[in-house]
Amino acid sequence: MATSSCRIRPVNYETDGVSVIEISDSWMYSAAVLLGLILLVGGWKLAALVTPGFGMDPVLALSSTVTVAIFVLSILVHEMIHTVTLLTIGGCRWADVRLGISWRSLTPYVSWSGPIALRHYQASVLAPFLAMGLVPFVLGCWFNAPVVVAWAVLMISAAAGDLVLFSRTVGLPGQSVVWDNQKMLGFSAILPTPE
Ligand SMILES: [Zn+2]
Repeated sequence: MATSSCRIRPVNYETDGVSVIEISDSWMYSAAVLLGLILLVGGWKLAALVTPGFGMDPVLALSSTVTVAIFVLSILVHEMIHTVTLLTIGGCRWADVRLGISWRSLTPYVSWSGPIALRHYQASVLAPFLAMGLVPFVLGCWFNAPVVVAWAVLMISAAAGDLVLFSRTVGLPGQSVVWDNQKMLGFSAILPTPE
């Protein structure tokens, strides 16, 4: 029997009369790809504006085999940050969490079973973007480290799908609980029953 150790237990929505919404529209994947390209080009142009010396150095660095390896490793670290957030803040068990590779987009992903609180889901979704993207981007610009900025732009772009997911959580009631959609980009949310 499937049991979840996530802190919030499943609600029997068939009998409890609570609202369940499915947020996994097929356009979300296209939106993520488009946003990823916009963030890559826009981030690169912004970096060139605010970081003296930003230009061919990071481009040359990024063309090296070592840097390609760093990029692949960084994507794995990105997924590990999702995982660690789910295991800690989200209260999920290791057995609930699944790491895999989406052959459609050639990207690794992390999925989990069982519901978690909306704000824990939001933390898990945003954690890699903040830790590997936004914060290094700002620090790299601040300390004028072009290679760090270039890496951060790539990591911001790689978080485009997460940003699309996060945007779909905005406006949901704070007491909602969510499930990952294990087949496609998206999730289901159980909305709290009105008082
Ligand atoms: Zn992600």
